[in-house]
Amino acid sequence: MLKPMKRKPITVLGGGIAGLSAAIALEKTGHQVTILEKTKVFDPIGAGIQLGPNAVRALQKIGIWEAVEPISSSPRAHHFRSAVTGRLLNEVPLGKEYVTRFGQPHRIAHRADLHEALLGVISSKEAITLKMGQDVNPLTLKGQVIAADGMWSKTRETLFPGHVPEKLPVTIFRAMIDVPEIAGIDMSCVNFWMYKHAHFIHYPVTKRNKLNIVAVAPEPGPEAALKNVHALPRAVLDKIPGFTRWTAAMLPPMKQWHKDNILLIGDAAHGTVPWLAQGAAMSLEDAAALMDTTDPVTFTNMRAARCVRLHEQTVATGKIYHYSGFKGFARDTMLRMRSQAWLIERMGWIYRGP
Ligand SMILES: Cc1cc2nc3c(=O)[nH]c(=O)nc-3n(C[C@H](O)[C@H](O)[C@H](O)COP(=O)(O)OP(=O)(O)OC[C@H]3O[C@@H](n4cnc5c(N)ncnc54)[C@H](O)[C@@H]3O)c2cc1C
Repeated sequence: MLKPMKRKPITVLGGGIAGLSAAIALEKTGHQVTILEKTKVFDPIGAGIQLGPNAVRALQKIGIWEAVEPISSSPRAHHFRSAVTGRLLNEVPLGKEYVTRFGQPHRIAHRADLHEALLGVISSKEAITLKMGQDVNPLTLKGQVIAADGMWSKTRETLFPGHVPEKLPVTIFRAMIDVPEIAGIDMSCVNFWMYKHAHFIHYPVTKRNKLNIVAVAPEPGPEAALKNVHALPRAVLDKIPGFTRWTAAMLPPMKQWHKDNILLIGDAAHGTVPWLAQGAAMSLEDAAALMDTTDPVTFTNMRAARCVRLHEQTVATGKIYHYSGFKGFARDTMLRMRSQAWLIERMGWIYRGP
């Protein structure tokens, strides 16, 4: 008779996308996983989330794509648009050619559905225990700990005092509405509207028949910052009854993600803003990387440089989205003249994965 596998115990702190996917990845590589989550009940409220080909590849490696595929859908294209003129500047079709280029599709899901799908997988695994309402001091935990306690991580604060996220001079405003029909806007696409000092994005969360909108603007908010946009984007904004506020903050890159028995992953290690829609994707990549190594030094060497590069491209992209005056005009002209292949390849190093 086959002897049952002797599993190595490991604790995962935090039950967000990073923590849950890491737990599944670790179970697959022979660990006995205990997830400690602070909240008593998961909050099902969330927003749309983009899963680029690198996120899909990570989900496949962890073996959870089958659970996530049915709750996600593929948008038709990325549309880059000027909110000053209403003009479509360029597009990246996300069809067959894109999938051939990157090997995986570009998908969209509701964050709560993704979370629920991961919880479904976890409930089928005997070697994973999820404990809710656990607000523990990570330093009291014995054995190896994977800390996935998010952007405002207490673990990071304890291990690396002073290393905190930096707030940006803009706020993120989110909304989900019924999908409106507006002549001149293809709602089946991810539409990026660029304006002066502000931008907004909308895309369909098809599995919920909703349109997800994320506006990025200085306070007091999009009503003021996007007041004078062109009539076309105005028609979208007029459909939104109100926004939910979200702090825009980025964690400055860290040289070290571990101390003693504790390794930071996900937003706790490299929290970012969603300008490139890569926060969850990087968390899923972290989880997939844990299947190759749980050694903190090797893991950080594998992951950190990529996250630093993403941080830099995110900062640069945020500036470009908000150009005004001549710079805005030059950006729009450049976007119109560039080939689709050039546009696609700006994100190529990200979408091809680590
Ligand atoms: C508006 C917006 C849009 C976004 N869009 C995208 C997108 O399109 N694509 C994309 O890839 N990413 C996107 N992101 C980013 C993405 O949501 C996050 O980067 C990702 O979910 C991070 O997961 P995480 O598990 O590290 O952190 P979190 O989701 O924050 O989870 C942390 C968990 O740890 C728990 N916790 C906290 N402290 C403790 C403690 N002391 N002990 C135990 N548990 C604790 C929390 O309760 C929580 O459950 C977006 C973010 C925003 C704000």
